[in-house]
Amino acid sequence: MLKGKSALVTGSSRGIGRAIALELAKQGANVAVNFSGNEEKAQSVVEEIEELGVKSFKVKADVSNEAEVKQMIKQVVDQFNSLDILVNNAGITRDNLLMRMKEEEFDQVINTNLKGVFVCTKAVTRQMMKQKAGRIINVSSIVGVSGNPGQANYVAAKAGVIGLTKTTAKELASRNILVNAIAPGFISTDMTNALTEEQRKDMLDMIPLAKLGEPEDVAKVVRFLASEDANYITGQTIHIDGGMVM
Ligand code: NAD
Repeated sequence: MLKGKSALVTGSSRGIGRAIALELAKQGANVAVNFSGNEEKAQSVVEEIEELGVKSFKVKADVSNEAEVKQMIKQVVDQFNSLDILVNNAGITRDNLLMRMKEEEFDQVINTNLKGVFVCTKAVTRQMMKQKAGRIINVSSIVGVSGNPGQANYVAAKAGVIGLTKTTAKELASRNILVNAIAPGFISTDMTNALTEEQRKDMLDMIPLAKLGEPEDVAKVVRFLASEDANYITGQTIHIDGGMVM
């Protein structure tokens, strides 16, 4: 499905990013694994990808740092000769009720989860324009659509990602660069494993399919959006949430 394509997945040393990187590789894409902290985990994802018979390498960059991101994109293009698919996946949470949320907690989340998407998108655009083709897939969140108490910073960033997706989709459509977002609900990863039993139960009560999603459920939708099957889809946000928000 993606043979000969090259992809960069930000924050792909674990969780949803790792599942996306592996899924794109299974479809034949060469995949660069971005990480900011855990180099060992990133290396093990690279090895898993290489076992699938495609090329991979790890690349360290903080997605909110423009200089590091420019260097990362250059490295990907140097290694793979193209960059066809960017998945903006890197994200953090710093949850707190509004009245307790510190300015720095707000800034950190906006910087990584929203500014990071802007910086990475801007940095790949020139290359994709040269190629006259590209796919950008932004990982938002269902709470960016619905709101969520205790996550003012995260929700603002993820809602911002949906707006950014629509605007970049409109700006880049004439260059054959398609930009879409996905909005996962509760997916079983380190991010949701941090929840208490009570929070987990409350969550399940809100999900019509009555179960958490798996990273692979998300990865398969990204694979679709990256493929030729999604040639006529841009500016959309696809919910992957077991029916939580309709
Ligand atoms: P995770 O914490 O397991 O993974 C996040 C990854 O992003 C980590 O590898 C981390 O090192 C990386 N990262 C963080 N800051 C970075 C930075 N500045 N530069 C580069 N990399 C950075 O979380 P996850 O659950 O796999 O989440 C992946 C994405 O999916 C995030 O954008 C998250 O907001 C989104 N999401 C997750 C859920 C869920 O239920 N798990 C739901 C909706 C959306």
